[in-house]
Amino acid sequence: MTSGTSNTIEIDLFTALEDKGLRKTSARSAVLTRIESANDAFTAEQLCRDLPEVGRATVYRTIRHLVDAGALCKLPILDGAPMYSIARIEHHHHTICSKCGAIGEFRHSTVERVMRSLGKEIDGEIVGHRMEIFIICKRCLSGTNDGG
Ligand SMILES: [Zn+2]
Ligand SMILES: [Zn+2]
Ligand SMILES: [Zn+2]
Repeated sequence: MTSGTSNTIEIDLFTALEDKGLRKTSARSAVLTRIESANDAFTAEQLCRDLPEVGRATVYRTIRHLVDAGALCKLPILDGAPMYSIARIEHHHHTICSKCGAIGEFRHSTVERVMRSLGKEIDGEIVGHRMEIFIICKRCLSGTNDGG
């Protein structure tokens, strides 16, 4: 399970930061390495806890720049701090389990079509949109999820 070498998606978080004019420091490297190794969505507080040697301000600022650069998705959670996940595909939307917090990504042409036709009725030019769908995930529905 842990032997994979080349099947990980290459996400250049460093480039995203450099595009924002931020130099590579050891503190930022630690944050990026931790984010790259994350399989699930995380909160800024979790990162701070995992990286006690990095200042909170650096963690929060790095996350904010990555969100700005489109490398991280910021996900609102119904009853808690926002979570972040690496943007693995370019334009997508999210499902968020309101019980366990599991995040899914999806793309759907119908959604994009609705957004485009909405644009005709909106007074102004739409330059982007976000959509999060709150669900109870299959694992929670089936009761096989021990979490929470
Ligand atoms: Zn995402
Ligand atoms: Zn769930
Ligand atoms: Zn969309």
